[in-house]
Amino acid sequence: MTVNTVGAIIQNAQSHGIAIPAFNIPYLPMMEPVVKAVVDLDSFALIAVARLEWTKFEAIGPSAVAETFERCKQLSHVRLHLDHVPVIDEDNLRVDTRPIFEEAIRAGFESLMVDGSRLPLDENIQAVRPMVELGHAHGKPVEAELGAVFGHESGPMPSYEELYASGKGFTDIAEAARFVQETGCDWLSVAIGNVHGAIAAGRKDMKKVEARLNLERLAEIHQATGVPLVLHGGSGIQADNIRQAMKFGIAKINIGTEIRQAYEVALKASGSVVQAQQATYERTHWVIAEFLQVAGIRAKVNRA
Ligand SMILES: [Zn+2]
Repeated sequence: MTVNTVGAIIQNAQSHGIAIPAFNIPYLPMMEPVVKAVVDLDSFALIAVARLEWTKFEAIGPSAVAETFERCKQLSHVRLHLDHVPVIDEDNLRVDTRPIFEEAIRAGFESLMVDGSRLPLDENIQAVRPMVELGHAHGKPVEAELGAVFGHESGPMPSYEELYASGKGFTDIAEAARFVQETGCDWLSVAIGNVHGAIAAGRKDMKKVEARLNLERLAEIHQATGVPLVLHGGSGIQADNIRQAMKFGIAKINIGTEIRQAYEVALKASGSVVQAQQATYERTHWVIAEFLQVAGIRAKVNRA
């Protein structure tokens, strides 16, 4: 049996006009029910962890995530992805990205993201390029972000309507073309109206705003860059918008808040990790089958 790389799988998804979900795991017990839902629905997904999920939640770190994955993985359905390693983090501190990439590569992560989106364009390119080279030296695709997907910041947030109307932080088309060319990144995370769920204390339990996407901008970025595009902040986007986005180059959709809150709410109400895992399973099942409608895609994207 040949094993497809994640790079090939994402390319397959894009050519079929579908997007692979990437499920974030801020609590390690969430992983097993997420994998089970993906397998039960014969779908395909990435299991993702971002740096803030071990600095601000309970994912511990890339090695711990990889050990948990080792116990429940089914490689025809799931692969491990390192999400947001920010160059400047959500508290505005500079991060040494290289050792984090190195740990994830050693632990067996198959794709990696470096996020320089809080930097001006030239500095973003300078920070991202060596990390792309590091990933490529180990045969791993690297994702980067251009534009600002707001929500993770510690400070106050402008209202969503103000953000959308102003287009503030939206990915610029010409900049995107230059960024992909000069960094060599494999996948590009774009800002087109999507927002992250808040993670700051006092806001992380709030219901996310219903976001919408500028699909014309997306189509233009797709045409200008030619690489698979990534949508962060997938939870809470208008469902018909999200399915249209798959036709305009979005090949990976990050889902964090939706399943994190399901786990947290159930854990708080019941005090039982098992019940929280059941809630995570049910929510993941809903995301795959109803929200993204990507049940049964495994054979299309990962024909091994
Ligand atoms: Zn993100």
